Amino acid sequence: MIASVLPTYSRAPMTFVKGEGSWLIEADGRRFLDLGAGIAVNALGHAHPALTEALTDQAGTLWHTSNLYHIPQQQALADKLVDATFADTVFFTNSGTEACELAVKMARKYWYDKGQPDKVDIITFSGSFHGRSSAGIAAAGSEKMIKGFGPLLPGFTHLTFGDHDAIAPAITDATAAILIEPVQGEGGIIPVPDQCLKGLRDLCDERGILLILDEVQCGVGRTGKLFAHEWAGIEPDIMMVAKGIGGGFPLGAVLATEEAASGMTAGTHGSTYGGNPLGCAVGCAVMDIVTDPDFLAEVNRKAGLLRQKLEGLVASHPDVFDFVRGSGLMMGIKCKVTNTDVVNAGYDNDVITVPAADNTIRLLPPLTITDSEIDDAVARLDKAATCVVP
Ligand SMILES: *Cc1c(COP(=O)(O)O)cnc(C)c1O
Repeated sequence: MIASVLPTYSRAPMTFVKGEGSWLIEADGRRFLDLGAGIAVNALGHAHPALTEALTDQAGTLWHTSNLYHIPQQQALADKLVDATFADTVFFTNSGTEACELAVKMARKYWYDKGQPDKVDIITFSGSFHGRSSAGIAAAGSEKMIKGFGPLLPGFTHLTFGDHDAIAPAITDATAAILIEPVQGEGGIIPVPDQCLKGLRDLCDERGILLILDEVQCGVGRTGKLFAHEWAGIEPDIMMVAKGIGGGFPLGAVLATEEAASGMTAGTHGSTYGGNPLGCAVGCAVMDIVTDPDFLAEVNRKAGLLRQKLEGLVASHPDVFDFVRGSGLMMGIKCKVTNTDVVNAGYDNDVITVPAADNTIRLLPPLTITDSEIDDAVARLDKAATCVVP
C-alpha cells in the first residue's frame, strides 16, 4: 500500500521535534549538530530570536492579503534587496524553482519585447540544479530528473561544466541567456572560478545576451559575501534567490536590472502567495542581519577556521576523504568511500551533513555556528570517518 505521504523521498531515520541554533533535537532529547541547515535554508540557525519575533509579530497582525493590494513588508524587503545588490527590481516567489520559472520567462519576454521572439534558448551546464518544475528540470537536463516526465520544455542547450571552449560556439541567434550557479550545490559544491564568471559576463556582453545567476543555494551570505557573484566583481542581469532568504520560511525571489525586467509589465506574471506578509517580514529580519558587514566578516573568519580543520580531517583519513572544496560556509568533501556511508556514519555520531553529486558530502552549517561548534563538528566527523570502512 502506498504511504500516505507520496513516497518521493528516501528519508534518514531521524525525526526532529525541536531546533536551537546549530542543533536539532529528537523527542528523546538526542541532539544532532546540524551542518545541513535544512539544505542551506536555516541560514541563521533554528529558532533565531529575531526571526521568531518577526514571524510571530506578523502572525498576530496579518497573514495574507494577495497581491491585489499593496503589501508593506514586501515593499520593505524589495527595497532592502535593491539597496544591497545590482538589482533594480524584485519579484517574490515561495521557492527556488518558482524563481527559475520566472527567470526563464523574463529572459524570453525581454527578447520578445525587443522584437526578437526567436531568442528563447538558454545555455545551462551539466551538474546544475535549478529545481523540480518543468522549466527547472529542463534547464538542468539530467537524466535522473527528466526521465519519464514526457515532453520537456524546449529551448535549453546543455554544455559540459568546465568546457570553456564550448561556450562561445554554442551561442546562436536563438540564444537569450546563459544560466549558471556561481557555486554548484546539488552538483557537489563546485565553485565557478572568479575568472570564469568574469569570462561569462564578458561573453554575454560581447554577444548581447543576458546572464542569469542561480544563487538559490550559494546566496544570502553563504559564501561570505551577500551574494556569491560579488567575489568575481561582476553583476548578473537576472538572479534567482530562495533558501536562506527566508531563514526557514518558504520564500524566494527573482532580482533583475530594470533593463532585463522591462518585458514584465502588469499582468505578465503573478503569484497568489509570493511576497506575502509573513514571508517578507521574516525576509526583512534575515536581510537586516546578513547585510551587516560585521556579520559577513564573522562568516568569513569562521569559514577559514572550518576550512583549515576540514583540511586536517581529510589529511587524517586519506582512505575515506579525497579533498575539500567550496566557498565560505558552503563546503564539500569529495569522498573516496561512498558518500552516503559517511553521511550515515555522521548520523551515528550525532552530526548532520548532506550528500551531493560527484560523491561529495555537503557542509552548509548555519552562518551563526560558533567556533566551539565548529571544533565539535569536526571532532564528530573525525569519529564518523573512523567508523567508515574503506
Ligand atoms: C534548492 C535549489 C533550487 C530549487 O529550490 P526549491 O525551493 O527547492 O524549489 C534551485 N536552484 C538551486 C541552485 C538550488 O539549490
